[in-house]
Amino acid sequence: MVACPCEVCASTDAKDKRLRSSILVQSPTTTIVVDTTPDFRYQMLREKIRRLDAVIFTHPHKDHLAGLDDVRAYNFFQHRAMDLYANEMTQESIVREFPYAFADIKYPGIPELRLIHIDKDPFTIGDITITPIQVWHLKMPVLGFRFGNFTYITDANRIDETEREKIRGSEQIVLNALRHEKHVSHFTLAEAIDEVRELGVPKAWFTHLSHQLGKHADIAPTLPPGMELAYDGLTITTH
Ligand SMILES: [Zn+2]
Ligand SMILES: [Zn+2]
Repeated sequence: MVACPCEVCASTDAKDKRLRSSILVQSPTTTIVVDTTPDFRYQMLREKIRRLDAVIFTHPHKDHLAGLDDVRAYNFFQHRAMDLYANEMTQESIVREFPYAFADIKYPGIPELRLIHIDKDPFTIGDITITPIQVWHLKMPVLGFRFGNFTYITDANRIDETEREKIRGSEQIVLNALRHEKHVSHFTLAEAIDEVRELGVPKAWFTHLSHQLGKHADIAPTLPPGMELAYDGLTITTH
């Protein structure tokens, strides 16, 4: 956290250097990113992502959306608009927060964006089929996504039983676990552990970790078998 002197923010352990939450999903032919965080540009540079087919959005909070302008580099190299898959609420925010990209008269160099509507129905990008899972972030409906046997859920503190059914059978899940203290719109670490047990997913990675959770090296050994803290740059293989 900016300006914070706590032991996590001052840590020299690379696993305590946490940028905003996002994942890149890659098949042999298709590359998708979930959310464009304020760190999107640096994350793409760090991972040397030369090609991006689409962005899919979980929800319109700034920490998941603010980096969108930087897709313009992909517009430049790929000679086409970037496909953005988002629900109605997120589409409205994109248009409101990046009005210049939707103006009648556009100035040169701005991102070219193509909005594609998604809701609860599965959809396909290239050779990747994606099943949306609607979870609750206090009162905001947020989309999680299942890709084959892998499920990604950020920014949630409640999952309805009907949506849990869509997650069950996953081999791996990434789930948010903000901190130890109760929070209005995110699972605590204990709540996230309980949710993983409820879902019966054998391998879980916790993400969207606040500096208030503590240092990676202190928290990781306390987790139950099959559960781990995710960290920036982590690569997971699934099928
Ligand atoms: Zn949020
Ligand atoms: Zn968030």
